[in-house]
This record gives sequence, C-alpha cells and structure tokens, in this order.
Amino acid sequence: MFYEGKCFICKVSGEIICAKCKNSFNYSPLIRNIYGHDWVSLYQIDQELEIILLEIKNKNRNKLRFFLADCILDSVDNISTLKKLITNSVLIPTPSNFKNQLVRGLDHNWEMLKILKFQANKRNLNLQIYPGLLKSRSGVSDQRGLSASKRMHNMQNTITPNNRNIDRIFSSNIHSNNSTFNQSSHRFLLFDDVVTTGATAMSATRILENRGLAIAGALFTARAGQMRVL
Ligand SMILES: [Zn+2]
Repeated sequence: MFYEGKCFICKVSGEIICAKCKNSFNYSPLIRNIYGHDWVSLYQIDQELEIILLEIKNKNRNKLRFFLADCILDSVDNISTLKKLITNSVLIPTPSNFKNQLVRGLDHNWEMLKILKFQANKRNLNLQIYPGLLKSRSGVSDQRGLSASKRMHNMQNTITPNNRNIDRIFSSNIHSNNSTFNQSSHRFLLFDDVVTTGATAMSATRILENRGLAIAGALFTARAGQMRVL
C-alpha cells in the first residue's frame, strides 16, 4: 500500500491525519433505544469523516483504520454508558453489499472490526468479534434514493442468515482468538460504518433474532441523515 506521507484530509501536513484535522474531528454520540435495542452512533458524518471512510473502504487504508479505531475507542472511553455497552460485547459485522465485496475483495466492516478489537483489548475492553453470521446475496441494488420502507424490503431480501455459522454459536466452546463466549455471558452487537435509514441494521437484527440469537443493539461509526426506519 503506497502512502504518500500527507494528511489525508488537508494534504498539507506529513502525518496520516494531522493534529489540526484531528482536532476538527469531534465525536457526538447518539444513543437511542429502538424496540429494546441500544443503537449507538458515534459521529454525525461530515466531509472529513466521509473522506476517511471512503479511503478505508475503497483503498483499503489500514493506517486510517487504526486512526478511526482509536477515535472510536476514545469516545467510548469518555462516556460511561457507552463503555458499559461495549465492554465484553461480541461485535458482528453487517455484510457489505455483495457487488462491493467483489470489487474490493474484502468485507470492509470485518476488516475494521479486526483492528477495533486489537486496539480495544489494549484498553481492557474485552471486545470479541464474530464473522460470517450474515450473508449478502448478489443483485443488491443501490439503496440511494429509496424510501425507508423500500430499503427495508430490499434488505430483507438481500441479507440472509448463514445458518451453519449461527448454529456454531449455540454449540459449546466456541473459540474466537483464545476467548470463549456464549449467549448468556456476552452481549451481541451489530457493527456497521454508517447508519442512514437503519434498514440494514434492523433487517440484520430481525434475521438473527429469528434464528434465536439475542441482539443487544448496534454500534455505528457514523450516522448520515435520519434513521427513518425507527
Ligand atoms: Zn490535515
């Protein structure tokens, strides 16, 4: 990965994100209880954050993933309700659009979670991650411009459960990176980089709960616009 040694936002300083740009990057967490699930979004999306998220998604910038993971964890550290919610939780990535996965060759939410876990556990948050519970089918159309109910309908048809992997969660002694977890001692949270209408997360929650997995809520790096599904 070529890194040209300039701040990704202002293109002036020699750091990956310079101190000046980092200071303009203020978290504004929003915690909402949606039908008994805690949905947390940490930032209102703005131009700078959008640049970072797109660089990560489209160009696989791992250094920016570390930067963003630390930003997320700084906000978690500063808010006790958030810290309580995240500590000892198991984060489940919501699947990327199938076409995007093919183009990028990776699932960006899963790549982000691996680094978030790595950084979180330096802070003793005992964060676990679990992949492959949800699949995205081909033929997912672009969600932009669709109404909330149409998005919801679309997502229900395009996200499907990976039943074999879900069954494994219920069997005993599941090991994920040297830690054992089970339904009774861990809270499962969905993870996505951006929440817009909330259709994807709501659909994923329903699918997993229909398969018997209790989902405590969702963690989103950023929110864009209204969560209209709610
Ligand atoms: Zn800068």
